[in-house]
Amino acid sequence: MNIAHWLLDAAQRWPQRPALFEGTRQVADYQAFASRVRARAQALRDTHGIGPGDRVALLMKNSCAYLELLYAIWWSGAVAVPINSKLHALEAAWIAENAGARLVYTDTGDVFTELPGECRELVAPTQDAPVSGDELQAPFPRQDSDLAWLFYTSGTTGRSKGVMLSHGNLMAMSLCYPLDVDPVSADDAVVYAAPMSHGAGLYNFIHVRCGARHVVPVSHGFQAEELFGLARQLGQVSLFAAPTMVKRMVEQARRQGYAGDGIKTIVYGGGPMYLADLSEALDTFGPRLVQIYGQGECPMTITALPRAVIADRAQPDWASRAASVGRAQSCVEVRVLDADGQPQAPGVAGEIAVRGAAVMQGYWANPQATAATLVDGWLRTGDIGCLDALGYLTLTDRSKDVIISGGSNIYPREVEEVLMQHPEVFEACVVGEADAEWGESVVAFVVSRAPGSLDAQVLNHWFLARMASFKKPKKYLFCDELPKNSYGKVLKTRLRQWLQAPDTPLGDR
Ligand code: AMP
Repeated sequence: MNIAHWLLDAAQRWPQRPALFEGTRQVADYQAFASRVRARAQALRDTHGIGPGDRVALLMKNSCAYLELLYAIWWSGAVAVPINSKLHALEAAWIAENAGARLVYTDTGDVFTELPGECRELVAPTQDAPVSGDELQAPFPRQDSDLAWLFYTSGTTGRSKGVMLSHGNLMAMSLCYPLDVDPVSADDAVVYAAPMSHGAGLYNFIHVRCGARHVVPVSHGFQAEELFGLARQLGQVSLFAAPTMVKRMVEQARRQGYAGDGIKTIVYGGGPMYLADLSEALDTFGPRLVQIYGQGECPMTITALPRAVIADRAQPDWASRAASVGRAQSCVEVRVLDADGQPQAPGVAGEIAVRGAAVMQGYWANPQATAATLVDGWLRTGDIGCLDALGYLTLTDRSKDVIISGGSNIYPREVEEVLMQHPEVFEACVVGEADAEWGESVVAFVVSRAPGSLDAQVLNHWFLARMASFKKPKKYLFCDELPKNSYGKVLKTRLRQWLQAPDTPLGDR
């Protein structure tokens, strides 16, 4: 089934329900949303010659037009290639070329020096005049296994790959949301504060299915103060936010004395949420937090940690539960494997593998990477973690981030958790550095709350009171901020590169 049927269905059932909002201003109800999508689908076909299976890229900031174009692409049977608008033009061009996109919608004008690969034209999202005709009343027929979304990974560890997500993958992912993450009602308003090319955009489907409101901030992105204003005025707001965004929301909320009024749910994931930060978020916003763990290859849908578990700080196991990413979502199985691909016993760390309806079809035009990642029907995530006897999964790290020092495995996440508990530490990130004696040694990059408030001696003392000395950082590097990608993930690759060439600026992309 073509997932665009969900929009057709919503428009038929609830034509007058509010659908699209720019800030607090409603710009379309469900009937208008579907008509705009039909007109755009017709333009795709008749003006731009796009047919079923063709790839159409979107290199745009978040907007209501973004949603219209996504659905128009699916309505016409084509494949959407959302590209993060914050990428460098060369990175974006590479994605458009790799995907073989025939058309790129962009709101940044002549972004490329030449049209990438098979691309024939750049089109502004506002450019398409409605095309008359009524042939495209319903979405073009698609099978569950047909490609819908080419999802380019955020590339924190190398060149980004095109994850092939089918209509069936997107449906499975979406149906897990009300079962495992958060029930959805028509009164809800999903706010797109993080890039729609990634997780936030993927959460549109279930909200279309349930006839909820879709809100794009006027800033087109994430500004905590604006978000709080939207929540107060619109009510029942839910959003997806990376842990670094949650942290910024907490700081801003504290500054202005805001306690989460109008926010229904903050779904966080995409990177580690340290316990110290989670406690502050709970103190500030109360029981409004839910965690998910996923990756482009199994989008948003590996595990979930429910609101009740996160909020129940009186539970004796709270700290270990809250530090976990929860239990498998409804449409997937999760295993932890040893080096030979055999399941590990509870409590023993290994590579996390996932199987089920949300797992990708493979990597676009990359059979080698596909074969290395989808093994015997299981997606090898490249993440290291362990399951407990009740099925709670705790992530330690990406396999390539594990530090092996003097033959012992040291998981950066553990070291970071301890550093983050220090009241003067604002952010910390731990990587390995080549070491002639130990193979690798532990290096901690630290951002302190007030400049000069910390030094290595203070942190060593703090550390040794809490953790085995072999895990202690050999070096602390104090910096003003950590380099992050446009999804808010800390770029460990950049930190490692910097260790090799410290005269290059840390924040430079
Ligand atoms: P991406 O494909 O860009 O979404 O990145 C996915 C990766 O982010 C995963 O493989 C994990 O390493 C990490 N990640 C996702 N969710 C979480 C989470 N809840 N906690 C810690 N790391 C996470």
